[in-house]
Amino acid sequence: MSSTDQNPDRLYSAREPIFPRRVSGKFRSLKWWLLAICLGIYYLLPWMRWDRGPNLPDQAVLIDLANRRFFFFTIEIWPHEFYFVAGLLIMAGLGLFLFTSALGRVWCGYFCPQTVWTDLFILVERWVEGDRNKRVKLWNARWDTRKWRLRLTKWALWLAIAVATGGAWVFYFADAPTLLWNLVTFQAHAVAYSTILVLTLTTLILGGFMREQVCVYMCPWPRIQAAMMDEDTLTIGYREWRGEPRGKHRKAEGAAQLGDCIDCNACVNVCPMGIDIRDGQQLACITCGLCIDACDDVMDKVGKPRGLIDYMALSDEARERAGTPAKAVWRHVFRVRTIFYTLLWSAVGVGLMVALFIRPDIGMTVAPVRNPIFVTMSDGSIRNTYDVRVRNMHGEARDFQLSVTPAEAFTISVEGAEDATFTVPADETLLKRVYIVAPAGSAPASASTSEVRIWLEGLAAEERTYDDTVFNGRGMK
Ligand code: SF4
Ligand code: SF4
Repeated sequence: MSSTDQNPDRLYSAREPIFPRRVSGKFRSLKWWLLAICLGIYYLLPWMRWDRGPNLPDQAVLIDLANRRFFFFTIEIWPHEFYFVAGLLIMAGLGLFLFTSALGRVWCGYFCPQTVWTDLFILVERWVEGDRNKRVKLWNARWDTRKWRLRLTKWALWLAIAVATGGAWVFYFADAPTLLWNLVTFQAHAVAYSTILVLTLTTLILGGFMREQVCVYMCPWPRIQAAMMDEDTLTIGYREWRGEPRGKHRKAEGAAQLGDCIDCNACVNVCPMGIDIRDGQQLACITCGLCIDACDDVMDKVGKPRGLIDYMALSDEARERAGTPAKAVWRHVFRVRTIFYTLLWSAVGVGLMVALFIRPDIGMTVAPVRNPIFVTMSDGSIRNTYDVRVRNMHGEARDFQLSVTPAEAFTISVEGAEDATFTVPADETLLKRVYIVAPAGSAPASASTSEVRIWLEGLAAEERTYDDTVFNGRGMK
């Protein structure tokens, strides 16, 4: 009986502590491997070096906020190319749709940071306090020296993991070795320390203390996943038609009438969410597969076939109840819906790759100066002013020249530069003040507005780009 039942004045029941038992099997092994890979990537990636020449940072993955760049191995994303980030987010979303429709909450069970770090914290807890029975005993024991010692050891190790987690995050935003030195010598910016503090606390609280409550009460994903799953989605279930009626005493009189489930509760005891999958599909189930490992182990011991708890689809239930075999796994995975998601995902991916390969290494944006709209010069000509931002995305400095079309109607000049030529340093953006003049009495000088095109040309290589803008004449008055 929950505490809500005991006290009707309370809206919420108190959390029942969960002490997952150690289990081994193919899904547990898979989860250990994925945990090691995910944590290894997260902690080590900022330390990987990548030579980009003398003018660029040599960190393989770097979010350079100061210079507004994102470096990912050979790829460098500039602020005006944010569509690449948007495209990657769309791909991540479509990927999530794809995997959820094929394999249920596989993200939650194997890759979600909450799952990965909670697994790590439980591993440390088991290492310090022992397996399930010892932890239950310790939980119920009074606070003596031993309990304090074990708890403080566990909390200290959790804190070390949480600090490392928060620390690793900030290394993605600055040169990792330099930032580490600045951090330990207390020369780093206050933002770095406060970010580490916030991430340390959230990792410790969410992974160490809140655990399954984050998935059940805080995360929106379990609520929206149902829309992405259908009766052909593979998810974890209990073959109730095979297991029931359950019973503990297999050798007792009447055991022949019992199903395969010996009601040993092994599947419940290993569950990190503390649920009983035999009660049917539940919002709390993250499809981690640990109950499959536990039950397969039990089935081996009692000499029954494995798979009483298994990955299965709702559409297979009727077949199996009728004694016909379930559909092959590939028929659940390759369906119209998943193929549609895969095509969509691939189309976005191919689009991004093409955009990446054909993007120019130079760029320009033109902003007309509106105050004043135009100036009448002493000879009667009309001058407009523009702020032109030139991007040189090459690894070395480049000379550029600006020109304007229609060339017969306008002349162009750059403030502080002869012949409208200037140099932009390697991998930088340069802001230039540019003047376009229409001779006195010419059509553009008299008109209200005229279309003009400003060209940017690299003098060393055959690179050219342009931006269209307008020229304001006397007719604007
Ligand atoms: S019921 Fe099984 S698959 Fe679901 S969370 Fe518990 S152990 Fe994991
Ligand atoms: S582990 Fe298997 S046999 Fe034991 S209670 Fe769970 S379903 Fe039944």
